[in-house]
Amino acid sequence: MATPDLQLSGARFPHPLGKIVCVGRNFAAHAAELNNPLPEVPLLFIKPATAAADIHQPIAIPDGLGSVHHELEITVLIGAPLTRADRASAASAIAGIGLALDLTLRDVQDQLKRDGHPWERAKAFDGAFPMSEFVTADGVDLRNLSLRLWRNGALAQEGNSNQMLFPILDLVTTISHTFSLMPGDVVATGTPAGVGPLTRGDQLVATLDGFIRVETSVA
Ligand code: ZN
Repeated sequence: MATPDLQLSGARFPHPLGKIVCVGRNFAAHAAELNNPLPEVPLLFIKPATAAADIHQPIAIPDGLGSVHHELEITVLIGAPLTRADRASAASAIAGIGLALDLTLRDVQDQLKRDGHPWERAKAFDGAFPMSEFVTADGVDLRNLSLRLWRNGALAQEGNSNQMLFPILDLVTTISHTFSLMPGDVVATGTPAGVGPLTRGDQLVATLDGFIRVETSVA
């Protein structure tokens, strides 16, 4: 599967997509809807670059593996190396913001959780991360970003970064103390409540208010 090029404000970003660092349970209402406890430190997992797809293309979902849930998330494009960064360097390394769907094989994930196994089989499959272009983050208030997802005309997910348990800048800083972030890495900052299964033929509209609007469908 071809990994999409990274686009930042209409230009090709000069680095290929690296790793995708995802944050679980960063919105209290979403943790509650799946009966999960709130984390005391960010819950991190990584999707490989091969999981990425262009969200503007019809979204292919796996067959025969149970439900595939949409999780709309704000993404952050890393533009400079970060190792054990302070907040100021983390802030200046954030090149852009965008949207992605952290697609999740929910039935598979539920079984993995019961078995105490890692989540990759549910989260890291080819196409598991349909992602948008990025817009420059200069001057953007990362603590007041609204995201919404409509499925077949009905509002399914809605949230604001001001509801995050771990705000975006804290996440990027904290992650860099666990492993280095490199130019071309993407951080997916967690999903608000309203996750649910996708069905073939679904029409989706996703917005990062004031910045990005995506219309797409499930193949
Ligand atoms: Zn997620």
